[in-house]
Amino acid sequence: MFFASDNSGPVPPQVLTALAEANTGYAMGYGADAEMAEVTARIREIFEAPEAAVFLVATGTAANALALSTLCQPFETIFCTPTAHIHEDECNAPEFYSGGAKLTLVPGAPGFDDKMTPEALRATIAKEETRGVHGPQRGPVSVTQVSERGTIYSLTELQALAAVTKEFDLPLHMDGARFANAMVALDCTPADMTWKVGVDAVSFGGTKNGLLGVEAVIFFDPKHAWEFELRRKRGGHLFSKHRYLSAQMLAYLTDDLWRDNAVKANDNCAYLAQGLRRTKAPFLHEPQANMIFAALPRATHQRLFDAGAAYHLWDGPLDGDPQEQVAARFVCDWAIEKQQIDQFLALITQPE
Ligand SMILES: *Cc1c(COP(=O)(O)O)cnc(C)c1O
Repeated sequence: MFFASDNSGPVPPQVLTALAEANTGYAMGYGADAEMAEVTARIREIFEAPEAAVFLVATGTAANALALSTLCQPFETIFCTPTAHIHEDECNAPEFYSGGAKLTLVPGAPGFDDKMTPEALRATIAKEETRGVHGPQRGPVSVTQVSERGTIYSLTELQALAAVTKEFDLPLHMDGARFANAMVALDCTPADMTWKVGVDAVSFGGTKNGLLGVEAVIFFDPKHAWEFELRRKRGGHLFSKHRYLSAQMLAYLTDDLWRDNAVKANDNCAYLAQGLRRTKAPFLHEPQANMIFAALPRATHQRLFDAGAAYHLWDGPLDGDPQEQVAARFVCDWAIEKQQIDQFLALITQPE
């Protein structure tokens, strides 16, 4: 009953097989391996972007921080939501890698901080760069798809945000740690969700959806390629035995493994959500991909933890009034079994 994160589960056998197959003979290092040429070709094809520059790194934080640092100057500011991973969960890596660019927070719709609105984005951007040489200059906008609260920007919403970034002539970055989960939920193509709506660069997640540890950074304009190369090396993220990163990403993109895993994770989450709704647990956000934020009484949390369930409480400690509701985050990956979800739901509905 493991709902702590989608990085907690196993790796599908196809990925390990691909690694074993890559593990023969010799290959050039630092991205000059034959598998990387295939990865680039495959990503260009999948994204319908024949010019795209493609790079692999091992963590999402490196992908975001290096991509954003390539899109901005140290005296600029990056626009993101208050709940953005780049703001809350990367230990200031974007600020560090960009050499001191700051983050400016864009509020969401009233009561919701998961997604930015075009109105708030426009107002927030307009307010920056009004102090001449004394203040931060406007820099890239970064959106997270799936959002950190398990919600998804529709293509129309992305288009509207991109229109605002273009008004100010700023680049648009997408943190796609859960890119595939969003894409299959929207039933669109990779191109639909990125360059066709005006996204300039993507952190294309692999780890949360079944890889050992690989994310791709994709720039639709190859003019950023050399700068990114240099920043990745300088930042210590250019892998010497690179073929093992390439082999993972290639397995991910072969036979639709990346889509299939995302469909499974989203289906598992929908099944859990359906069960939770039957228990009348209040939802904090409408789950649209593979994450649920819902509240349960402390006594129920205690029973679940005692039975070995793993997940994170979101807005309060376990100690306190046992009847009081405390929100929690439940994440489903591709591998969790329905039986484990059933066992979990049975524990929730079990009479006191
Ligand atoms: C997990 C995650 C990342 C990447 O995190 P790493 O731990 O650095 O791999 C980036 N963005 C979001 C929204 C995430 O959930």
